[in-house]
Order: sequence, then C-alpha cells, then structure tokens
Amino acid sequence: MAEKHVYKFGVDENGNNVTEVAGKTVDEAKWITGGKGANLAEMANIGLPVPPGFTITCQTCVAYSSAGNVWPDGVLDEIDVYRKDLEKRMGKKLGDKDDPLLVSVRSGAPFSMPGMMDTVLNLGLNDDSVQGLIKKTNNERFGWDSYRRFVQMFSDVVMGVDGQLFEDAINEKKEEKGVKLDTELTAEDLKDLTATFKEIFAKNVDSQAHPEVAPNGVAEFPQDPYLQLRLAEQAVFGSWNTPRAILYRKQNKIDDTLGTAVNVQVMVFGNMGSTSATGVAFTRNPADGTNERYGDFLVNAQGEDVVAGIRNTEPIADLPKTPGLEQAGKDLYRVFEILEDHYADMMDLEFTIQEGKLWMLQTRVGKRTALSALKVAMQMVDEGRISKEQAIMRVAPAQLDQLLHPQFDPKAKLDVVAKGMNASPGAAVGAVVFSSDAAVHYHNIEKPCILVRWETTPDDLKGMVAAEGILTSHGGKTSHAAVIARGMGAPCVCGAEALKIDAKAKECAITGTDIVLHEGDVISINGTTGDVILGEVPLVRPELTGDLETILEWADDVRHDASRGRLFGVRANADNPADAKLSRDFGAEGIGLDRTEHMFLGDRKQIIQTFILADRTGDKQTALGQLLKAQTDDFLGMFEAMDGKTVIVRLLDPPLHEFLDNPRDYAVALAHAEDRGENETQLKARRDMLARLDSFQEANPMLGLRGCRLGIVYPELTEMQVRAIAGAAAHLKKRGLDPRPEIMVPLVGTWQELKVERDQIEETIASVSEQTGVDLDIPVGCMIEIPRAAVTADEIGKYADFFSFGTNDLTQMGFGYSRDDVEGAFVPLYLKKKILKSNPFETLDYGIAKLVKMGVEGGHEANDKIVCGVCGETGGDPDSIQMYYDLGLDYVSCSPYRVPIARLAGAQAKINSNGGPKKIGE
Ligand code: PEP
Ligand code: MG
Repeated sequence: MAEKHVYKFGVDENGNNVTEVAGKTVDEAKWITGGKGANLAEMANIGLPVPPGFTITCQTCVAYSSAGNVWPDGVLDEIDVYRKDLEKRMGKKLGDKDDPLLVSVRSGAPFSMPGMMDTVLNLGLNDDSVQGLIKKTNNERFGWDSYRRFVQMFSDVVMGVDGQLFEDAINEKKEEKGVKLDTELTAEDLKDLTATFKEIFAKNVDSQAHPEVAPNGVAEFPQDPYLQLRLAEQAVFGSWNTPRAILYRKQNKIDDTLGTAVNVQVMVFGNMGSTSATGVAFTRNPADGTNERYGDFLVNAQGEDVVAGIRNTEPIADLPKTPGLEQAGKDLYRVFEILEDHYADMMDLEFTIQEGKLWMLQTRVGKRTALSALKVAMQMVDEGRISKEQAIMRVAPAQLDQLLHPQFDPKAKLDVVAKGMNASPGAAVGAVVFSSDAAVHYHNIEKPCILVRWETTPDDLKGMVAAEGILTSHGGKTSHAAVIARGMGAPCVCGAEALKIDAKAKECAITGTDIVLHEGDVISINGTTGDVILGEVPLVRPELTGDLETILEWADDVRHDASRGRLFGVRANADNPADAKLSRDFGAEGIGLDRTEHMFLGDRKQIIQTFILADRTGDKQTALGQLLKAQTDDFLGMFEAMDGKTVIVRLLDPPLHEFLDNPRDYAVALAHAEDRGENETQLKARRDMLARLDSFQEANPMLGLRGCRLGIVYPELTEMQVRAIAGAAAHLKKRGLDPRPEIMVPLVGTWQELKVERDQIEETIASVSEQTGVDLDIPVGCMIEIPRAAVTADEIGKYADFFSFGTNDLTQMGFGYSRDDVEGAFVPLYLKKKILKSNPFETLDYGIAKLVKMGVEGGHEANDKIVCGVCGETGGDPDSIQMYYDLGLDYVSCSPYRVPIARLAGAQAKINSNGGPKKIGE
C-alpha cells in the first residue's frame, strides 16, 4: 500500500466520528502523527469535543527536510483531498467571503517540545473572508482583531519578519488613541492596524527569497488561503530544525531524525467575548503531585496568550465560578476524570471555550517534576489505576537526580524579599543575571547564576540550561518558564510580581523594599515554596524518605525477585568509610570498586613517594610498613561501614609517577636554587632527584607501568596491600563482625598476569590466616578493561572468581580515545556531526558492548559461577544499565549519588526485558 501521509480526526458533517488512527495505541501512533495528532485522534475516539482537522505525518516532514525542503511526490495532492474533505465536513470553505473556515496549523512531534516549534492561528483570513467572519459573528471588532493577529503571526512565524515591528505598531496606535490596553482599540483601529501590518509585511519580506508571495515582483500579504496553508505547513516543518528546537532535543535526548507532524485543525475562538476563554491545565499538580486541578485560563483570549504569559491568568479552580463559563467549567472537570480514567496517568491539556462551549485542543501525558512523578505514581497505585511495576516505570531514573540535589538547610534563617509561584521545586543559589547570554557567560566562567526575567521565551532556552534556577516576575504556573523548568528539573519561581526588572539597566527593584538587585548580586530561590531570598542560603543533603524510599523499595523487590528474571544488584564505587556509609544509606548492596590509590592522597602521598623514590631498602621497608598500617586502618573503616556486604578492593592501578612531584615544577625549583647559588652538595641532591623523577616519566603512562604490571614489578606493593586487606578482615572477624572483602586485580591483559598475581595474593592471605588464626575466604577476581582481556576472557576466567568491567579503560582502549583528553577536544564536535550518537564515556557504546558480551560469555565458559559486574562510569547511566542487564551482568556499580538512580533503572531494565510492566491483576 502506498504510504499514507495524512490522517483525519473528529466528526463529519453528520456528527459521526470519522477519525483515522495511525497505530493500535497512542504510543504507536505518535511516531507517525506525533503526540498531538495521536492524542487528538484518541480524544475524538473517546467522544471528547475535538475541533475537526487532519494531521500530516512526521515521516512527511523527514522526507520534505531531507529533500532540501521539497514536498514528496503526490503529497500536496493528498493534503488537498483532506483539506477539501475538511471543508465539506464543516460546510465552510477557507477564504469564503460569507462564512469562512479558519484553521490553526500546529506542530506536534512524537515527544512534546513545549513552545519550541511553530504555530499559526486564524489561517484562511484575507480581505474578503474577514468580511465573512464579521458577517457571521456580527462582531466587527472580533473580525479585524482576528485578521490583524493572523497577519502578525503569519509574518513573524512563517516569513521571519521581526515580531517587534508589529508590537511597535500596536504601541504607536495605542499612543495615538490615548489608550493603554489592546482591548481598548476599536474595530476601526484594528482595521487600520491590519493595513499597517500588511505594509510591514510588504517592506520586510524579501521578494526574491519568497517569490511565491511576490507574484508581481513586490511582496504582498498572500490572499490565497491555500498558499497561506502550504506556507504555514512548510514553516512548521522548518521549525523542527531551528537552533532552539535542536538545543531542546539535545537537552532532552530526543532523536533529531523523528521530524514533526503538522496538525491542521478548525479554529475555535476563546476571544469571542466574556463567555469565551482559553486555558492550559493539568489533571494533578505537575510541580509537587498534589491531587488537585492545576492550571490557568484567560477569559476572552486566544491560544498562545496563556502559555506566553503575556496577560495575567486566573486559576483553573475559578473557572466554574466565572459567570457565563459555569457549564464549560463543569464539563472541563468531567473531561479531567475521563482523561485520567482512560490514560491512567496525569494528563496535561489545552482547551478553548467558545461562547460557553468547551473544546479540547490537546492532551498529553503531563510533564512533571521528579517529586510530582513519584507522588502521582503512588496515588495511582493507591487508587487502583496502576500496578507497582507500572509505578516504577513512571519515574525517569535521571529525574531522581533532582530529589538528591542539595536543598536549603531547614535551620537556615531566610531573608525572604519577594514571593512568587512555586513553579518547579528545588533550591538554587546564584548570581542574578538578566539575559540568557549573561547566564551562558556565568556558566562558562563556572559561576552559578539565577536567570531573572520578566517572562522567558523559547529563545531563552540556552540561558535556562546554563542557570541554576529561573525567576520571573510574570506568568502563571503553566507559563513557558514554568513548563520548561519543570521539564529540565530546574528550580523555578514565577510570577514574583514585586520584582520590577529593568533588563537593559541590569537591575531589579523589589517593590515594598528599598532593595535593588544588580547583575552579580547573589540570591537564593526556593522553587518548592516560591520564596526569593537575599544572599546565599546554606544547602544540605536530602534524605531518602517518603515516596522516594517506597518506590526504591519496590524497585529493589523487582531486582531481587528471581521469578521476575535474573537477580540484578547495585553496588557503589567508594574508597573511604564516609562514602561507603553514604552509599549504604542510598541503598548500595556492596562496594563494587574501592580504588585504593585514592587512599594515598593527602599526607599519605609523602609515604608512597618515599617508597617509590627510596634508594636504600631500609627506607623502602619503613615506607612499606607505614603504608601497611595506613591501609589496614582504611580497610578496617571500609569493612566495618559495609559489614556483611561485599567490598571489592582493587589493588593499586595508576602509573606511579602520579604520586610524584611534577618534574617540570622540580626543574624550575632547581633553576631558582642555581640562581640563588645554593651549595654544590644541595644542588647535586636536587639534580639526582630530578633525574629520578624523570626516570618515572612515560610517553604513554596510561598504557605503561600501571595496573597489575605494577604489582608484578613491585610484588612488595601487592603483598602490603593484601596483608592490609586480609589483616583488617581477620581483625574484624575476631571482633565478631562479618567483613566480606574481595580482591580485584586491575588492568589484566593475559591469564598469565592474573595467575602470577593470584598466586601471590593467595599466598599472602594464607600467611595472614596462619598468623592470626582466622579462617579467611577472600575471592580474587580482575577488571576486564583491556580489549585483549575481553577477547580472552575464556582463559582469564579460569583464574577469576569475578569480573568487573572497567568501561572507562575499555572505552579508552577500544576506541583508542584518551579518556583524559577527548571529551574536551573532539567529542562535542563528533556529537554535533553525529559521528557519535552519545559520549561513549557516559553511555555504553554498542561496539564496546560487544567486548563486554565476549567477556561475560568467555568468563562463564571458563567458570560457571563467575560473578560479573561493571564499575566504569557507565555503570550509573540508565541507558547503559538496560544494556548491562541484557548483556547478562549480575550488578552495576556507580558513584554513591547515582545508587538510587541505578536501583530504579535496574528494576526498569529487568521489567523491560521481561515482558514489560505487569498490570493490575496480572
Ligand atoms: C575503568 O577503567 O572503568 C575503571 C573503573 O577504572 P579506573 O577508572 O580507575 O581506571
Ligand atoms: Mg580502569
């Protein structure tokens, strides 16, 4: 069958539903007709009042864009058929001079990208049809207001004319008439403005670049509604690739190749007087999850006015109390229930009331903060709408980060200077900045900042990303700033009306006080309460309690449930008792990587330097003795903090010179000493030392004397470390504790290396056991982080009780990318050019995954009891965690703060790979 490019929705001329769906479920359809189109079809099918229309598919957008903005063959004809059909269904024609059909043209990608792409309203108006609209509505002012809005929007959105020119013209008109508000302009004024707008169009549209609107060589506002429609559709397709849309997709990891659908829908008017209104709502509170109706509406207003935050809105709770809107308010509340019953989720919706009648313009699963996601998921389980497994799937692991971020210290004294709406929860402290460019600048110089704006626009996205938090003086809880901030998890206070911002002067006065904030002044904002606070409020670490604790416990149950698939553990990377305790508090089931080199920092550096540099064995032995004592203390602390749980201790890994002074600095000190005329003996000692330091330099240290090679070249280091591990374990066992160390050999490339190390480790453990009289059973395993090790895992596995995949090195050596250099060098460019899909040091690459697969399979071939895990950075990344489950790993190990994220992601991976979430009663 030929590809279908257009789908219709809504009723026909007889009131029969004629909706065509693009997939069995909304989730299936959204890839074709986009989220908005798929949900409009769904709403029409469940009997909700949806203005009729049709959707042009995302695939058409992709084909159009990739052909260099050329329509695929036959599609314009197909659209024409649907346009004619829509005219027939409505009994009206676009551009008709007696009773014109007007449509909106809106974008709608598979994932919502609020405010990032284009919309054109009131399309179909021209010099003739405006008369028809006036006749039909008997409202001259409304007719001209609609037409001037259309000319303005079309010029700005479709032709790229500077929107400010139109705003200036409106202001001039208001001044000329001596009025303050747009609503005070008369029909005649708006008619004049329409003419002025058309002149602005003619002057500012380049006739050469747009010959289609310049039939006589001069640009003219197009009167042909079919041309208007085609140009608007093209503009919506084009808006998929604007810089702000691209940035938004990057931020939200949305695939650039999906494209957007275009929805052409019959206009309904929220600006037809006091019984008309338009609004945006959520069925529950998207900021904190409270089960309440949430949103704003504006009486006598059109479409984008609410989201743009241009006029101050009314809370949705007042809708049924508003004269003339009582019934529509009740109907809307009923729609809330129908939508929640149908979708079993918190929904976000856009509606318009035209002369008392409610119309649904959009619905989608509501974007929400982590706090709200958790609370709503819990409520829905309590209400019997969803199962625990479905609840687990409802919270994005990466979002949990928001809840684990520091929050204001509850004991801190707060100097609250203004209050706004608590639009997106969390605490943020930073310097005040008044523009997105300034926010980006502060971010680049690593100074946290708060973006303070009257209201944000889609072009502020880069500043919102760069800032710690967002503060606006205007706009409601569904304003642009609020919606985007919640999506990003950034704290946001909006509509703090006491702020009188002068962005040009870079200052902001606070009404009712004599405070004036200047750029760079530090403030704190609390997006959970709406407080704006002068100065820096101290932050504290949040605790895992309440809903978060509950959902993580449910996630743990799934990970541990053998009937639901393989057990899947979560451990932490930690190398001191405080971090070990923190990770235990966060739910780590063990330590997957204790990097012992981190124990040689601070004062310890001196001891290891002595060991490395000592010429005389005596010094070396003394240094080793000191290291043994220090390491034993470390392990006592670690094993005690993790009593009863596995602690994988990795033997020393980095090149030794990392512990030594930099020879370049040392050479400078030597030159100074020579200048000062230090005596020859001292200078000789300095020169000798420099020569020693130089002798440890390597051309490629990451490929040099490190990892197990160190332990083989300096067996006394291995012995010291194993003695400390075994000694600490023996000591704690005597105290009645249950230490469970395991010893891991780093950077193994051949089975022979592991065998040499293992023999020595076992010998040392046996010796400690004999000396202490304590039985010690300490498993020995290795890192798989060299490609050769992965490839020969079937040999290496014979000597290993466990494998831990080190994807930092495995990626470094698998790709041949220096892990210390490339992320700042060419990876960003590679990402931009799509040479790389994602940063392979953050998310496991599929090529490196093949090495992991070989490693896991080889390991099991050699030893069917082998335990396999991962401890590289990708171990805490939700997308990689899914891959690790599928690759057959037994656990992931990550930094303490990512442990809760990994607990949730681990459960989700298991659910995804075992038939999806079980529904209630399954
Ligand atoms: C690794 O290489 O992935 C690893 C965990 O070891 P390190 O980062 O210490 O080299
Ligand atoms: Mg490594």
